[in-house]
Amino acid sequence: MTKSFTKRDINSPVETKDKNFRNKLKTNVRLAPLTTFNIGGPARFYVEPSSLSDLTAAVLWALRNSVPFLILGGGSNVLVHDSGYSGLVIYTGRLNRLEAHEDTITAECGVTVDRLVDKSLEQRLTGVEFAAGMPGSTGGAVFMNARAVDRSFSDIIEKALALKVGRDAVDSTWLENNALEFSYKTSVFQKRKFLVYNVVFKLTKGSAQAIESNIRANKNLRKSKGQYLFPNAGCIFKNSRWIGMPTGKLIEELGIKGKRIGDAEIFEEHANFIINRGKASADDVYRLIKYIENRALQTKGIKLEREINLVGDW
Ligand SMILES: Cc1cc2nc3c(=O)[nH]c(=O)nc-3n(C[C@H](O)[C@H](O)[C@H](O)COP(=O)(O)OP(=O)(O)OC[C@H]3O[C@@H](n4cnc5c(N)ncnc54)[C@H](O)[C@@H]3O)c2cc1C
Repeated sequence: MTKSFTKRDINSPVETKDKNFRNKLKTNVRLAPLTTFNIGGPARFYVEPSSLSDLTAAVLWALRNSVPFLILGGGSNVLVHDSGYSGLVIYTGRLNRLEAHEDTITAECGVTVDRLVDKSLEQRLTGVEFAAGMPGSTGGAVFMNARAVDRSFSDIIEKALALKVGRDAVDSTWLENNALEFSYKTSVFQKRKFLVYNVVFKLTKGSAQAIESNIRANKNLRKSKGQYLFPNAGCIFKNSRWIGMPTGKLIEELGIKGKRIGDAEIFEEHANFIINRGKASADDVYRLIKYIENRALQTKGIKLEREINLVGDW
């Protein structure tokens, strides 16, 4: 059951002297349409910054009013609670400047991965084709160190402009690749209170024809796996090398593909995906996640590690 925040919930901390921020601040904004699952309740507070100073003002407002905040990119790796998020959601879609210089591309965090890929083709720069067709923003991809076909974002990042969030202050610093603490599906942004603002990708000059055919092949591969047929959030669990097989295969071996709770279903085509058959609630998806975890533990003695980010009060 999704809820709304009442006037009482919303009024108290809204006071701010920053007129620009106050004008941009919204309340009770539905989050489901901003997620690829198309699930979840509203944000109590919501803002769409369009510059570094807007983003900083939003974070400072949250810190000074003791309101929790969440950065939302493409919403392709989140499950938002049916009751929503009782803090400030900072949506990055308007932080979308993109520039190329010789063999680098600089993208603000809200640039979509597909726009980044298109830019690389336009500039005849190779290296990012592996991500073609991956939903989400560059900020989210760096946060997650997203990967496909044996390549990760960490392979192509030169540096990132990080916002370091303190107790009541925010500092921006360029961090080189080796300071971004990348490893499988993780980065410094998951370990500390850092936000991704800007990213410089280091690519190599290549042939437009080869880049284009690589992009097409990767997009077709995703289509052939049915990734876009139903609302979903990609893989729910990480792969763990020590298990000796991809987690999708492991779930398949449990014999629970197609298992359904409400309108949430373990995808027949790829068992590490949960799909929304139409009206799934966050609770349906969450119960299905717990069901898979329990079955993996009881049947195989394996504790699965979640990749999906749960948003709200679980
Ligand atoms: C059909 C489909 C296919 C997918 N395929 C893949 C795949 O092949 N490989 C893969 O790795 N993933 C895949 N995913 C998952 C997802 O697309 C990636 O993890 C993606 O990188 C998430 O980016 P996002 O902008 O959507 O992040 P969101 O879902 O908006 O956010 C995810 C997390 O990142 C944080 N975040 C977002 N932006 C920032 C920022 N600027 N600074 C700090 N934190 C931030 C959020 O707070 C949240 O905790 C797939 C998803 C779908 C739906």
